[in-house]
Amino acid sequence: MVNAPNLESSQSDTHSDLDLASFDLALPTPDHQMLWDTLKQFVQREVEPQAAEYDRSEEFNLELFRKAGDLGLLGLTVPERFGGAGLDATAAVQLMEVLSSSDPGFGLSVLAHSFLFCHNLAVNGSEEQCARFLPAAARGESIGGMCMTEPDAGTDVLAMRTRFVEEEGGFVLNGVKTYITNGGVDEKTLGDIFIVYAKGEDKRLSAFVVEKGMNGFRLGQKWVDKLGMRASFTAELVFEGVRVPRENVLGEVGQGTHHMMRNLEIERLVIAAQGLGIAGRSLRIMVDYANERKTFGRPIRDHGQVQRYIAETYAEFAAARAFVYDTARRLSLSRAGQRIDADATKLFAAQVAKRAADAAIQVLGGAGYMGEYVVQRLWRDAKLLEIGGGTLEAHHKNITKDLSRTPSLIP
Ligand SMILES: Cc1cc2nc3c(=O)[nH]c(=O)nc-3n(C[C@H](O)[C@H](O)[C@H](O)COP(=O)(O)OP(=O)(O)OC[C@H]3O[C@@H](n4cnc5c(N)ncnc54)[C@H](O)[C@@H]3O)c2cc1C
Repeated sequence: MVNAPNLESSQSDTHSDLDLASFDLALPTPDHQMLWDTLKQFVQREVEPQAAEYDRSEEFNLELFRKAGDLGLLGLTVPERFGGAGLDATAAVQLMEVLSSSDPGFGLSVLAHSFLFCHNLAVNGSEEQCARFLPAAARGESIGGMCMTEPDAGTDVLAMRTRFVEEEGGFVLNGVKTYITNGGVDEKTLGDIFIVYAKGEDKRLSAFVVEKGMNGFRLGQKWVDKLGMRASFTAELVFEGVRVPRENVLGEVGQGTHHMMRNLEIERLVIAAQGLGIAGRSLRIMVDYANERKTFGRPIRDHGQVQRYIAETYAEFAAARAFVYDTARRLSLSRAGQRIDADATKLFAAQVAKRAADAAIQVLGGAGYMGEYVVQRLWRDAKLLEIGGGTLEAHHKNITKDLSRTPSLIP
């Protein structure tokens, strides 16, 4: 079980107390070291042995998800009073880096549950809502997700068509959401609980907590034959006259866009962290292979072109890792303010991950093309990081807008 953190002691460190030469951005406190060790063990014992099988079968591993819940890994940033570990953005990045070094698809399910649902609710919900929904979610007893995307509205999210109208005691929702991670557990079973964005008559967005069992809420199609992230369940969700009680509105009616934007910062950062996991694993695999594989009587690591793949990947991985953990250190979990770096870390780390997995396939030659050697799965999974949670093009626009408005962001 992940221990409750000693944040007071970690926050009381002053610059003068810190030994900057040995300070590790990824392991800033003993709590982070403990979490890292727990994650490494969990991945080695439980995640890695099942990763290839669930990729092949395109199934979500519910049993593994429950084990992550038992270890306290599903509510890392949820306050302790609601059953979480009360940890920070650095811990969130560690979680996603380590899981994605083995099984990015399972990692994506954990990400959608922990950050798109649990964290989103913890930051934007009321005390009463948090007390009602978060303890079961943090234990992994309920499976959560977030519904923003629609068949006709992804990047252009404000064009969404899902509508709500007010009625006595609450609201009625109508619409369809698609590509929803954790939308189902299997073909017949809907996920348990979702934050759903919908548009009111005044065109403003609101966010609702929609629960399995509400009349008119059902699982649509499961998306099959995905390029990657096949161990995560991606589905369409249908809302037909779903009556949502007033107590399930997140924050104020009409504040949905604000909630959405605030949560996108942690979402983008943890997706960037998935890129670190993929790039680091690809690098390890290619270095091991280059040491063992011989051609023309020499290990292939002696060939300059192979060295170039290894060295370039290392430099990009190290740069991405420093950027992601530094942004995590500065990211406040309770308010917006780090948008440019949340976008920029994901923009960079997603492409680093894809290049790293591609370089690994090249270094392994024919073996890299085969499932047994893992890197082709990482290569397929890496592509999602350039699309989900905002496309590369969306990051280009946001970053350019922020720099134009605030030139002082460039030191
Ligand atoms: C595996 C998977 C899991 C997902 N999980 C979730 C989830 O849990 N919840 C959820 O809500 N969504 C989820 N999504 C949806 C994801 O966030 C969207 O796919 C993404 O935001 C892009 O939207 P779109 O697919 O509609 O592409 P579009 O918005 O249609 O974009 C198509 C192309 O046009 C480009 N483009 C669009 N507008 C512009 C512009 N103004 N300028 C320049 N280029 C532009 C895009 O960058 C892209 O290249 C998931 C997607 C996948 C694939």
